[in-house]
Amino acid sequence: MIKNEYLRKLYAECAVKNQDEPEFLQAVNLFLKSVDSVVDHLPSLLESGVLPRLLEPERVIIFRVPWVDDGGRVQVNRGYRIQYNSAIGPYKGGLRFDSSVNLSIMKFLSFEQTFKNALTGLPLGGGKGGADFSPAGKSDGEIMRFCQSFISELYRYIGPGIDVPAGDLGVGAREIGYMFGYYKKIVNRFEGAFTGKGISYGGSFARPEATGYGLCYFTEEMLNRYCNESLSGKRVIVSGSGQVGSNAAVKAARLGAKVVAMSDIDGVIYHPNGLETELVHKIKTNRESITLYCPHNPAVQYFAPPAQLWRIPCDVAFPCATQNEIDLAAAKDLVKGGVKVVCEGANMPTTPEAIDYLIDNNILFGPAKAANAGGVAVSGLEMTQNVSAYPWTFNEVDEKLKLIMKNIFKKIDETAKRFNKPENLVFSANITGFLKIYEAMAAQGVV
Ligand code: NDP
Repeated sequence: MIKNEYLRKLYAECAVKNQDEPEFLQAVNLFLKSVDSVVDHLPSLLESGVLPRLLEPERVIIFRVPWVDDGGRVQVNRGYRIQYNSAIGPYKGGLRFDSSVNLSIMKFLSFEQTFKNALTGLPLGGGKGGADFSPAGKSDGEIMRFCQSFISELYRYIGPGIDVPAGDLGVGAREIGYMFGYYKKIVNRFEGAFTGKGISYGGSFARPEATGYGLCYFTEEMLNRYCNESLSGKRVIVSGSGQVGSNAAVKAARLGAKVVAMSDIDGVIYHPNGLETELVHKIKTNRESITLYCPHNPAVQYFAPPAQLWRIPCDVAFPCATQNEIDLAAAKDLVKGGVKVVCEGANMPTTPEAIDYLIDNNILFGPAKAANAGGVAVSGLEMTQNVSAYPWTFNEVDEKLKLIMKNIFKKIDETAKRFNKPENLVFSANITGFLKIYEAMAAQGVV
């Protein structure tokens, strides 16, 4: 419940304006609840007019994406790019290709991205985009034709210093390659208009690993600061074994954790003595089902559907698949199973009721805005390498990533202490990112 009358009115207006956008309203509501706790400390905030502007994206682009399938039939999808906020830098955020993509999901993701990017300490504004197109089951040729059609429209709105997209769910190195290639052909310039590119044409080492590795570095900071412990020896479960999940699992295992269970869209694999995370990574990089792991170890148990994962006893849970995958029932299962830390690899994977339940039960909770910011941080480093035309080694990028994650944790931990909400990182991640954007928007006048 939002207590401040002005903020309550703001939310009510936003809810009327965006009635069919539940995910966007969920993100706005959580954000305003955090602002509610600090509004008395920031007397100029309400007069500044920053908040109503922040609840409206700067630009929403929706476009038709026609393409021809392998059978010669014309298919039509809907493409999106939300250029949410450019107060601290050019729009930056991934592209998602998935049948679930709609305006609400695009707006919630770009809203969240705006605060996340502010937390990295890099000059990155917030954006997000994608299409209601799922690459699963499509041939390479179909995916290439789709990506080319998508870029034949989007190219006019993006570019270095303007808007620099990257990957997200359903958009990996293959899709970025097709989109970058077509963009370069149309604009006739080789420039860093995308991140997540292949190493041979301007990509950064450690970009594919960055979100998952960053999640582990952030979790190590939490465990260290609040429990004087580390990931070593902890039982970890990971949902989703895509770019984020499989790299988080590999890194957690390298840091000494026992990754006992992982899932994909099909189901869950479980072994109480720990899974071979590098093998799961290899299977999923080949875009195969996690069930292919089972023949390698007969002692592994397999369950379906994937939501069974949350019933498995663990110390640390990394939700790395999709939004709202941990609901109240799953949160209760996690607490029953002895979880100590939940750290979000995916964007908004935990429902508000589940977050409240976990925090009320003294579970350490790492919100996505902070915990999964490693990906966009290394995207920022890729932009720097592209501008300077000087690539860094894997270790150089990884060291910078570690430092960025450490600094994000330090900043939000300080904000939590400053506003007397120790260990409430949901609140402090929202407020730390917001204060930076607020200062920039207030300084730049009403634009
Ligand atoms: P991928 O497409 O690479 O992987 C997604 C994974 O989740 C796949 O393994 C997929 O299964 C699985 N999955 C999908 N739905 C479910 C479900 N209901 N239950 C269990 N598993 C499921 O995406 P990413 O790893 O890139 O992104 C995952 C999340 O992380 C998204 O929320 C994204 O926004 C967020 N994120 C990603 C960043 C990045 O750098 N890539 C940066 C920050 C956030 P299958 O393989 O069978 O399809």
